[in-house]
Parts: sequence; C-alpha cells; structure tokens
Amino acid sequence: MNTEHKTAQQILTKYWSYGHFRPMQEEIINAVLEGKDALALLPTGGGKSICYQVPAMMKDGICIVISPLIALMKDQVEALKSKGIPAVAIYSGMYKREIDIALDNCVYGNIKFLYLSPERLASDLVQMRIAKMNVNLLAVDEAHCISQWGYDFRPPYLKIQEIREHIPKAPVLALTATATVKVKEDIQEKLLFKKKLVFQQSYARENLAYIGIMEENKLQRINSILTKVPGSGLIYVRSRKKAKEVSDFLIHNKISADYYHAGLDTKSRNLKQDNWMKGITRIMVATNAFGMGIDKSNVRTVIHYDIPDSIEAYYQEAGRAGRDGEKAYSVFIHHPSDRIALEEKAALTFPDLNEIRKVYQALANYLQLASGTGAGICYDFDLGAFCENYNFNPVTVHSCLHILELEGLIALSDAVYTPSKLKIIADHRDLYDFQVKNVKFDNFLKLILRSYDSPFDNYVKIKEEEIARRMEVSLEYVNNILNQLQGLEIIKYLPRKDSPQVTFLEARMNTKELSISKENLHERKKIYYEKMNAMLGFVENTSQCRSRLLLAYFGEYTDYRCGICDFCLKRNSLELSELEFEKTEKKIIAILKNGPLPIDELVMSLNTIDEDSALKVIDWLLDNEVIKHDIAYVITLVED
Ligand code: ADP
Repeated sequence: MNTEHKTAQQILTKYWSYGHFRPMQEEIINAVLEGKDALALLPTGGGKSICYQVPAMMKDGICIVISPLIALMKDQVEALKSKGIPAVAIYSGMYKREIDIALDNCVYGNIKFLYLSPERLASDLVQMRIAKMNVNLLAVDEAHCISQWGYDFRPPYLKIQEIREHIPKAPVLALTATATVKVKEDIQEKLLFKKKLVFQQSYARENLAYIGIMEENKLQRINSILTKVPGSGLIYVRSRKKAKEVSDFLIHNKISADYYHAGLDTKSRNLKQDNWMKGITRIMVATNAFGMGIDKSNVRTVIHYDIPDSIEAYYQEAGRAGRDGEKAYSVFIHHPSDRIALEEKAALTFPDLNEIRKVYQALANYLQLASGTGAGICYDFDLGAFCENYNFNPVTVHSCLHILELEGLIALSDAVYTPSKLKIIADHRDLYDFQVKNVKFDNFLKLILRSYDSPFDNYVKIKEEEIARRMEVSLEYVNNILNQLQGLEIIKYLPRKDSPQVTFLEARMNTKELSISKENLHERKKIYYEKMNAMLGFVENTSQCRSRLLLAYFGEYTDYRCGICDFCLKRNSLELSELEFEKTEKKIIAILKNGPLPIDELVMSLNTIDEDSALKVIDWLLDNEVIKHDIAYVITLVED
C-alpha cells in the first residue's frame, strides 16, 4: 500500500471520498505529520477518526488506536477494511489464540491500524509485541479517561505511558470531545507530551437552545414539547425501568417511540438504534448507554428527564441535538426533588469497604477463581444474573465494581456480539484421510471448504443456522458436529458470544487482603460531589445565559450571550436591546457595590432619562436574585 507521496487531501478523497476537511482536521493532521504530540478537542461527530487515520495512511508503519468502546472499535475496523485498508481490533472477550494471530499480523504483516482496548495494555505479551512494531502514531480516543479529574476515569489508560516508552519515536494524538482546563493539562502530562499543544474549537453551539423547565409532571411536559417541536428526538432517563415507562407513555399518546439500555441484547439494541437512525422511530428514550458514537445530524430535541451527574455528561448528551446546524432544543425538566435524587445516588455510588469486599468475594466465587489466579484473564459477566444469584442490589454492585475498576483491580467492558468462528487445524493431508475414514463428517467439511476462502490459515466467521439450512439438518446436529470435530482436533471452534466482559487486571486476592485506599476513595468522592454540585448549579441557575455558564465551565470566559436559552429568552422579553440591558445592569451592580440604596435613589444615580427601562432592568435583576430588597424597598446586591 504505497500512499507515502500523497497529500492529506488526496488521501481523504481517495479513501473517504470527501471533498474537504472539516474545521481543524487539517491543522491537527499537519501537527501529527510534523511528529508533534497533540491534544485535539472536537465535538462528537466532529470527525476525530480522520485526524489519525489520514496521517497514518501517509506514513510507513502501523497506527495504534486506544479506545474503550468495543462496538465502535469494531465498526471502525470494518469501515477501514471495506476501503481496502488492513485493520484489526483486540479487545476483552477475544480468545488468546485470536489475539496472538492479530498481534503477529501487526508485527510481520501489512496491518495499518491496530485498535486496542485499554485493559489489554496491561499484558506483557501485548507490550512486548508493540515494541516490535513499526508504529507511526499512537492515537488515544476518549483521552479524558486518563484523568482522575475527568468524568470517566479508567486506570488502565495510565498504562499508555509504558507503551510510549516502547515506541519513543511515535507521536501521540489524544482525542476527546469534552475536557475542563484541569483535565486538558492532566491528559498532556499523563500522556508524556514532549511539548504541550492543544487544538480546540469553542464550546459554543449557536443553533442549540438550552432550556430549563421546572415542572413536577415531567411526562405531560414532555408530551407537550414533542407535540410542539416536530422531528427526531432523544430523551435521557436514569434507569432502565424508566426508559421503558416513558416510551410506553409516549406510544400511548400516539408518539412514535422506543427505549434503549445496556440490559438489552446486542441484536435488539442494533435494531432499535437502526430504526431511530432511519427515522422509523421518532423518539428514543434511553439511559446514558445510548449515544456513544451515534452520528445522527437531524435530532431536533434532546430532553433530560433526569439530571446527569456532571456537566461534561450533560454537554455531550445535550449536544447530540442539532448537529446539522439547524435550530434545535436541549431541554432539561427539573424539580427540587432532583437534587435529593442526585444526592441519594451519590451516597449509593460510594459504598463502604465491607460492601466492596463482599462483592469482590462473590465475584471471585461466581467466576470460580481461586486466590492468586486469574490475572489478565477475561470472563463473560452478566450483572443481572450475578445480582440475582447473590441477592445484591444492582446499583450497589455497579458502584462496588466501579470502585474495583478505579483501583485498577478489574476492568469492565460493554457487551459485544462476536460471531462464531472456526479454523481447520488439521493439515490438508490429514484432513483428507479423516474425511475418507469418517463419512459422517464429510458433508459438513466439504461445505466449509467450499464456502470459505482459507479456513486453514485464518478463523472464518460462520453462522450455524445457515449451515444447518444448507445441509438440511437441525441446528443441534450442526452444533454437535462442531463440538465433535473440535474434540477430535480437526477444527478449532469459537462459539458466538454476546455478553459484557470482566477482566481481572491483578490476580484474585484473598478478600481480607483487599485494601482500598481511603485517601483515593475520599478524593474521588470529593471530585464526584464537585461535579454534581456544578451540575446542580447549572440547573438551578436563574441569573446567567446558559451557554455562557457552560463555556465558563470548560474554561472559556466570555461575555457571550446565546440569546436563545430560557434565561436569554426571558430577558429578551424585556424589549431592551442587549447593549442597553448590559450597560444598565453593569451600572446598577457598580452602584450597589458601594452599599444599599432605596429604589428611587438608585434610579436617580443611574442618571438616565429612560426611567422605564431602568425599572425593567431592576425588576429583572430582582426576579433573578441578582439583587434583593427589604420591606422599605432598599436594594442590596445578592452576594454569590
Ligand atoms: P467522532 O469520533 O469525532 O465522533 P467520527 O470520526 O466518527 O466522529 O466522524 C463522524 C462522521 O463524520 C463520520 O461519518 C465521518 O466519516 C464523517 N467525516 C469526518 N470527517 C469528514 C469530512 N472531512 N468530510 C465529510 N465527512 C466527514
């Protein structure tokens, strides 16, 4: 694959058939080509993958991509392969043998992209093989996962430092959609940037109206919003149960809707997602499991039925509306009880050490792991069955597992469908002899040899149902043959899987020895509460433009006013120009900083002929609790 002398533009056109780069893609690509380490912040759907795929195609060697989302990783690999670009993915739940073959192909073959899930980095086998590869770029997707200040810290990401040592010449490109100032610094530090370099667009989304609505009857309110705003929509709820309930309610009200959460199997999740993407289903009601990597441009409304636990999560979810640049709404419906619900959830998120130990012990029993074993091994893990088996509360278990994950003891990954695969391990001659002697298997083996390209060299994907249909036998019969041939060492058969995975990053410890650092726990709790309080502050805000608040959270301090959020709309209704309003507001605040004043004196001090407008602004500031008055109408500033 000789693409070395082509320009970035030529590569983009040749493989992707796109005419132009999107904003910032070209600058990022140039930095990578110059061998610089860089952090790129692009919104979801902004085209992050092109930023590493194009430069990697322009260089000799292989590009390693670290990504925590297995489903996305697999999609990317398929997409690259369909363009004739060799790519592989290594993730939890793969068999050791498959991993071995894939790594070999990366060292000796002509693979251009290796996608790796972070927990695989802990393995010496993987690290040693990476050291042998000719790596041209290390791309780190969802790079905020490396920072404990981020909203989705994943300790295995810290292993990327070791990888960098093995491939000192390859630059690193870190990519994420959202990061606060602190997280940006942390990413560059933890990824051992030689020199700091950040590419970032403004967080402002001019076509997106952030609207907060205080309402107890959330369902009715959603119904009336969706009746008024046509087009595709997404509703975020906190629990799986609620997802179904809200969807049922909408269907009952003749609004086309469906629900989505991580507890559904891959097949129905894909079907639901497809129907929504195509517009067959209008509204998707989902938990936060929905949305990662989903690129639908014409979503008109995103509604938050429940309040997320951080502004980062909120911004990402709300930002799924209006990607096409047309006017769109991100609405959150809140009620004072939401604060209590979030606080209760926070309490459950931090269980005590005993609880964590109990879950760890049960997990080891469930997976039948003796002390000192299990390091680096992945297991299928069904949270529902586990909780039922041990009579645990799923929320508590989820929190305990998350803490074990944060302590670097285990890694959890999402459910991914892996089709059944087969490979013939007998050589051509032995197979022929076997077929002659065992007529019973002959039909089956002939079918396999006829249908697949090279089942001797590689694992080929098979569908047992399809084979049964073509052989005109039952599915049980085919499964039986597969297992028998495997027992006879003629084939290697890897049955399909569709379950989440848990990986033991450290060998199973004696439960009594399991210690969780109190300081870590305390620190994490602090970070969690800070994020939650920032979110609640945003929700309960009545005194500032919502876009401006979001921008400030991500470190953009400006005088920006979006003019379309609920705050701005209320202010617009005063029929004062923005300039007029702000000038008067600033004057009032400056005057009151010198001390309280009765209202008539305040108006006088403003020194304006247009007293009506001045009074409108004063009223507004009173309503929005920027200023307050006592019984005698003496006005004071409300301190933050
Ligand atoms: P992200 O990872 O930032 O969420 P992706 O890399 O998945 O986004 O890209 C989102 C979509 O935009 C993909 O379908 C991708 O092919 C497309 N895309 C990326 N860059 C361009 C471009 N320059 N022109 C047109 N489409 C693009």
